[in-house]
Amino acid sequence: MADPGECSIKVVCRFRPLNSAEVARGDKYIPKFIGDDCVQIAGKPYHFDRVFQSSTTQVQFYNAVALKIVKDVLEGYNGTIFAYGQTSSGKTHTMEGKLHDPEMMGIIPRIVQDIFNYIYSMDENSEFHIKVSYFEIYLDKIRDLLDVTKTNLSVHEDKNRVPFVKGCTERFVCSPEEVMDAIDEGKNNRHVAVTNMNEHSSRSHSIFLINIKQENTQTEQKLTGKLYLVDLAGSEKVGKTGAEGTVLDEAKMINKSLSSLGNVISALAEGSSYVPYRDSKMTRILQDSLGGNCRTTMVICCSPSAFNDAETRSTLLFGQRAK
Ligand code: ADP
Ligand code: MG
Repeated sequence: MADPGECSIKVVCRFRPLNSAEVARGDKYIPKFIGDDCVQIAGKPYHFDRVFQSSTTQVQFYNAVALKIVKDVLEGYNGTIFAYGQTSSGKTHTMEGKLHDPEMMGIIPRIVQDIFNYIYSMDENSEFHIKVSYFEIYLDKIRDLLDVTKTNLSVHEDKNRVPFVKGCTERFVCSPEEVMDAIDEGKNNRHVAVTNMNEHSSRSHSIFLINIKQENTQTEQKLTGKLYLVDLAGSEKVGKTGAEGTVLDEAKMINKSLSSLGNVISALAEGSSYVPYRDSKMTRILQDSLGGNCRTTMVICCSPSAFNDAETRSTLLFGQRAK
């Protein structure tokens, strides 16, 4: 396999531990880890750039997966990190974790800390402008999580043909605390608008964007980088029986957007000349932060329980398409 450092698209896989209900039920723990880049399910191997076992801590995962991307974004690259997997496989644990717990926080709060540590380490000739946006895509509608009055935003292109979400709140932030406040606010807004947060979060994509502009006031050299952090909707198949109305619409939308994301990632990984960015809102928005000169990492999140066997295999296959 090529050195993963040379490829702009990486796919890593993370297994969560069995949860207490699974342990109580006596579920079998099915993954077998081979080296640090392969996992076997029932004897069938699945290869990734890295595979993380259930015992991997939040800081270990951050250092292995996100740290380099943060450095690159501070050097002016764009990047995207996705968490893909069925509901309850560890996507939110990986992206956010416990936001205010130094040990259990996920990659987003760690990224925020490291960006500001970097800024604080620079001399007075470096000027930084950091802004964040936070929105979700639900039933193919873009909802601003930093302004509840904006419930159906659209994707436009600027004069350089760079896509953006028109009218979406861009909050300027000057400290890690201000970023964390924005995240808390967005999460609160998301809770208020829905009756069952667990169901809702499993059916919507949540997207956090950090935009970094820096200028050296002496040399006038400018750098811009942005990083999309995406907690995808649950990838599980909705049972054919009983699904109708909104549930069926949701399932169709999720299927469509996840498969178009898969198509874009695999086209990029193959170096294909045509990349179908325009097939979904999400891939349009992310267009200038995927592939090419960008840093893209897909985190494939899996349950280790025999109970979720079928979903786990289909999740692993999705990840393999991108290799
Ligand atoms: P998802 O966002 O994919 O639906 P969550 O991240 O909410 O799933 O994870 C479901 C539950 O499993 C949560 O209680 C979470 O804390 C726990 N969990 C997930 N991944 C891990 C992990 N690697 N280590 C420990 N607990 C985890
Ligand atoms: Mg979640």
